[in-house]
Order: sequence, then structure tokens, then C-alpha cells
Amino acid sequence: MNRRRKRCPKCGQLGALPIAYGYPSPEQYEAVERGEVVLGGCCVWDGMPEWRCQGCDHEWGNLRVSDQPKRDRDYYLSLRNQYKPVTLKLIFVCESPPASGKYFYDKTGCIAEHLFRAMTRDILGYDARDKEDGLRAFQAAGYFLVDATYAQVDKGLTEAERDSIILRGYPQLEEDLLGLDPQRRAPLILVKKNVCEILGPRLATNGFRVLNEGQVVYYPSTGNQKKFRSQMSAIFLKGIESSQA
Ligand SMILES: [Zn+2]
Repeated sequence: MNRRRKRCPKCGQLGALPIAYGYPSPEQYEAVERGEVVLGGCCVWDGMPEWRCQGCDHEWGNLRVSDQPKRDRDYYLSLRNQYKPVTLKLIFVCESPPASGKYFYDKTGCIAEHLFRAMTRDILGYDARDKEDGLRAFQAAGYFLVDATYAQVDKGLTEAERDSIILRGYPQLEEDLLGLDPQRRAPLILVKKNVCEILGPRLATNGFRVLNEGQVVYYPSTGNQKKFRSQMSAIFLKGIESSQA
């Protein structure tokens, strides 16, 4: 028995259990059966509790997700590029991987993540069993998702700071897109208001086919999902019309 004798700060009982996050592995289920760990759900971000008291259910701790592993551009690209379609049909350009760690191409994440859900359910019309399943379906459809910058800009910055990082990152984004699709054959759809406004005109000027054509697409966070769906379907309809013309 190697369980740490952790004491609950609220009721004083010993034997609190560590909370395991993420999509549980068979080993984790066995550890739960043995009473060594409790499951905290598959969504995980900084600040979540690390321990749960078996006596009073009190949870405490301050989980640091973003410390492990190092989340730099190479890290994100290594996850992303596992799901690169053989033939690129459509590239979505989003803002940046979230500071929370819920990166679109992280297969250990949760199917309830906003962007993942929007891309699989709303765009593909596919109900994924888990993230890996949904990411493979996304790949099979020829769809790919890149970020305008791989610096996390969604926390702790003003809008102006964030926009200037996106703008400064433009040359690297263009290089990334040309590396994926040298002939610029696959059309792009930009997601998130500032990304649409800052990058839309630049990409179009530089020879990319931006399906938005000025249409802003909101990020599909809580409250915006409906708008995301209608904005996207307008773009898809227009794209289909223009490819038939
Ligand atoms: Zn307790």
C-alpha cells in the first residue's frame, strides 16, 4: 500500500485520494477499483483540485496543467500534424491554442470542448465517441485546423496586445499554410472575429481563397454556438455555389 496518507484540510480525515483527469485508461479504471484514485472527468485545466477527501468529499489543490509538458509551437504542431489529411480540402484558421490546455488536436481532451464539438458535430455532422475518433473523421473529410499563432493569446492580454501578436505572426502563418498547401488549392475559413478581420484581407491579397469573403465567424463558445452554425452554413452554401459556377 503506497497511497500517501493525505489529510483533509476541512474534516481532518486521512486517506484522501488523488483526482485523475483526462479520458481514463484501463489502468486508471483498475486503480479506481482498488480505491487508489478518483476520476475527475475528462476536461482538465489549470486550477482544478488535485485531492478529494473520502470522508466529506471536500476537494482541494491547484492543478497546474500548463506546466507539463512544455506547450510550445513544436509541441502543438507535433499533435496537429498527426491528423493532416492526405488531400487537403479545407483549412480552418483559428486564433491560438487555448491557455487552458484544451487544444483541438490533443486526443486526450474531452468531446465537450467547444471548438471540437463545433467542428465535429456542426461542421461534419458527426457524433464522435472520443476525441481521437472525431479527429480521425475530421482528417478523413480532408479538413485541417491551423492556428494563426501558437502562442497562447486567450488569457492575460488586452485585445490590442492579442491582435498585435496575431498580426506579427502573419508571416509565420503564411509559411505554415504554404508548407501544407504550396499551390494554395484548399480554401480557408477563418474563425473568431479578430482573426477574420485582421487576417482575412491579408490572406486574400496574398492569393489564398478565403471563403469568408468578409463574413465574420464567431468562436463557438457558450452562447455563440447558434451564430457559429448559421455563419458557417452561409459560408458553406456560398462555397458550394461558387464551385458549381
Ligand atoms: Zn474531509
